[in-house]
Amino acid sequence: MKHAIYPGSFDPMTLGHLDVIERAAQMFDTLTVSVLNNMAKSPLFSVEERVKILEEATSHLQNVKIDSFSGLLIDYCAEKDVHIVIRGLRAITDFEYELQIAQTNRKLSKGSVDTIFLTTSLEYAYLSSSSVKEIASFHGDISQCVPEFLVDRIHEKFA
Ligand code: ADP
Repeated sequence: MKHAIYPGSFDPMTLGHLDVIERAAQMFDTLTVSVLNNMAKSPLFSVEERVKILEEATSHLQNVKIDSFSGLLIDYCAEKDVHIVIRGLRAITDFEYELQIAQTNRKLSKGSVDTIFLTTSLEYAYLSSSSVKEIASFHGDISQCVPEFLVDRIHEKFA
């Protein structure tokens, strides 16, 4: 059984995240998408809300599970007995940051956790959770950035 974890903030999830989830779900028997409970950030959506949103967005994918975690990713991987982490790469700017995290995780886990990168589909290369929040804060059109059901929920946060 090949099982991978796709961790992230997903605040909010975007069509770019969904693209990575759909593609990774075809490569593994099970994919756990896990929301990082990061105390340092003040989020738009609570962890519980983000979990529900991801569940709704991935309800068509039978082998995708949604979860949340706090603390070190390698400890969470050990707890779940998972050895593969999925991350998305949009541009060279993501690379340096992601490379450092991937190497740290490999070292800290004594080689037991490896990271696989999926390059973004070109139509979503520009998309980030922060740009979605910025556009929404000015009541702009985010319908091409997030799943349809999520558009009004994001706008409500800025009402
Ligand atoms: P984090 O705050 O942990 O970076 P994010 O929710 O911003 O979490 O992103 C989670 C993962 O999804 C990261 O690997 C990020 O590079 C990737 N990602 C974000 N936006 C996109 C996108 N538009 N296309 C592909 N991957 C993306």
